[in-house]
Amino acid sequence: MSFTVAIDGPAAAGKGTISKAVAAHFGLAHLDTGLLYRATGRKMLDGMAPLEAARALLREDLDRNDLRTPDVARAASRVAAMHDVRAALVDFQRAFARRQGGAVLDGRDIGTVICPDAEVKLFVTASDAVRADRRWRELSGTGHDVTLEQVLADLRERDARDAARAAAPMVPADDAVRLDTSDMDIATAVEQAKQIITRALEAAGGR
Ligand code: C5P
Repeated sequence: MSFTVAIDGPAAAGKGTISKAVAAHFGLAHLDTGLLYRATGRKMLDGMAPLEAARALLREDLDRNDLRTPDVARAASRVAAMHDVRAALVDFQRAFARRQGGAVLDGRDIGTVICPDAEVKLFVTASDAVRADRRWRELSGTGHDVTLEQVLADLRERDARDAARAAAPMVPADDAVRLDTSDMDIATAVEQAKQIITRALEAAGGR
């Protein structure tokens, strides 16, 4: 059967970690849709036109090891504001979401635009300070020379652009369950997400 879990929220709120953990737990496929925009942004930084880059995207482009940098995050958020770039990426995401065996997709517009009929919708948030601290640790741990202040300013700028854009802005779906992870460790956040998904699976007829 197809069963879609949509996990949206701002940068570094914990949605990536939660998505991976619940996908592994329930045996669902996982797509980090941010990688589509990061790979497109990366190609734009390399000199390609954004729409051409989005249309030509290959599965292996998502596995590049240079997508998790602050420059690429910024470029991703810029190409993500372009209607035609988003339109070029819709079919791939929808097909992934409806694959047999079920799927978890995380991003900004999964519950609102890509999969409005998803069986589970989560909107994961955390305070700016907590998110910046998490992202700063992650970047410092992978050898990036950035200050906490820079990371906080970058996150705020990116969130503001993602939330204010006309094309599929980052907003919680009306029927999304909100999960604020500010005061939770990752195990607790994953546990809460698992409980929500378990209830939805039971409602969908069990697996
Ligand atoms: O999730 P991540 O931080 O990797 O996403 C990078 C950027 O891609 C976001 O800031 C956002 O602009 C864009 N994005 C989006 N819609 C999605 C996923 C990501 O607009 N579904």
